[in-house]
Amino acid sequence: MLENNKFISLVVPVLNEEEAVPGFLEAIAKAISDPGISYEIVFVDDGSTDATADIIRAQTLKQTNIRMVRLSRNFGKEAALTAGMDVAQGDAVIPIDVDLQDPPELIMEFIRLWREGYDVVYGQRVERDADSRTKRRSAGIFYNLFNKLSAQKIEPNVGDFRLMSRPVVDATLQMRERNRFMKGLFAWVGFTSIAVPYTRPARFAGQTKFNYWKLWNFAIDGVTSFSTVPLRIWTYLGLIVALAAMVYTFVILIQTFAFGREVPGYASLMVVVLTLGAVQLTSLGIIGEYLGRLYLEVKQRPVYIVREMTGFQKPGQNVDTTSFPSSTKQGAADGSHSR
Ligand code: UDP
Ligand code: MG
Repeated sequence: MLENNKFISLVVPVLNEEEAVPGFLEAIAKAISDPGISYEIVFVDDGSTDATADIIRAQTLKQTNIRMVRLSRNFGKEAALTAGMDVAQGDAVIPIDVDLQDPPELIMEFIRLWREGYDVVYGQRVERDADSRTKRRSAGIFYNLFNKLSAQKIEPNVGDFRLMSRPVVDATLQMRERNRFMKGLFAWVGFTSIAVPYTRPARFAGQTKFNYWKLWNFAIDGVTSFSTVPLRIWTYLGLIVALAAMVYTFVILIQTFAFGREVPGYASLMVVVLTLGAVQLTSLGIIGEYLGRLYLEVKQRPVYIVREMTGFQKPGQNVDTTSFPSSTKQGAADGSHSR
C-alpha cells in the first residue's frame, strides 16, 4: 500500500478545444470527488488558434490546481504530452484527452490499482463503437503489423490514457528522441501493469484532430521508431532476386547453346527491368524513411518550445519556472519533483 502517494497530475494536450475545456473541467471535478486525493491539471496548449488558451488562463485564476504550458506552435500530441509530463509534479501522472473520450470516471479505479502496487494502469478499449469501421479495421491491422515487426509489443486498443507512477514517468522522460511514439515509449519502459477495460464513447464536443493521412504518418512513425525489420526485408528480397537471376541466366545459357540465339524476348526483358526497378525504388524509399528520421535525431532540436507557463507559481508549489525553456529539458528526470 502506498498510502502517502496521493498527488496526481492530469496531463491534457489541447489543440483548438475551446468547446471542450469547460465540460472537461466539470467532469473531472465530479470524477475526483475524494477529498483525500489532491491533483493538478496540466493543460498543454499545442498551438491553438482559437480561444482555448484564454479560457484555460482564466480558469487558472479560479482554480489553483490548474496550470497551462503553452507551446509556441503546434508540435503534435506526442510532443505536447512530453511537455506536460516534463512539468507534472504528481506521484502519478495520467495523460487524458480533453474530449471525454477517455472517461474521467476511470481515474479513481486507476488510482485504486496504483495503490495496490501497479506502476502502470492503462485503459483498454473493449469496443470502439464510436469509431468508424474503417478506423477500427485500420487500427487492428496496425496493431498486428506493429507487434509482428517490433520486439517491443504494445497492447492492442490501448491509447495514451493510463496512470503511470513517478518511476515510470521518469524512465519515459529519459528518452528524448524526437520521433516520439508515446504508446511505444510507455510500453518500452516496462514495470508492472494492469488493464482496465472500458468502452470508448464519442467525442462530446469539437472535432477530431486526426485525419487518415495523419494517422497513416503516425503509423509509419510508430513502426520505424521501434523496428528495423522493414530495412532488413530488402536484404532477403535482394538475395531471392539474385538467386532467381542466377537460375534464369543458367537457363538462357543452356537455351543459347542448344538452340542458338533467340531474338524475341522483349516481353520478358521489360518485365524484369520494370520489376527490379520497382523493387529498387521501394527499397530506396524505405531506407530514405529511416535516413530522414536519423537526420532529424542527429540535429538534436528540442522536442518542443514553450511560449508561456501559467498557473505554476502557487503557494506551496515550488516549481522553478525559470528552468523551463525547453532546451534545458534533457535531464527532466533529475528528481526535482520530489515532494
Ligand atoms: N491534440 C493535440 N495536438 C494535436 C492533435 C490533437 O494536443 O496536434 C489533442 C486534442 O486536443 C485532444 C487529444 O489530443 O485533447 C486527442 O485528439 P483527438 O480527440 O482529435 O483524437 P482522436 O480521439 O480523434 O484520436
Ligand atoms: Mg478524441
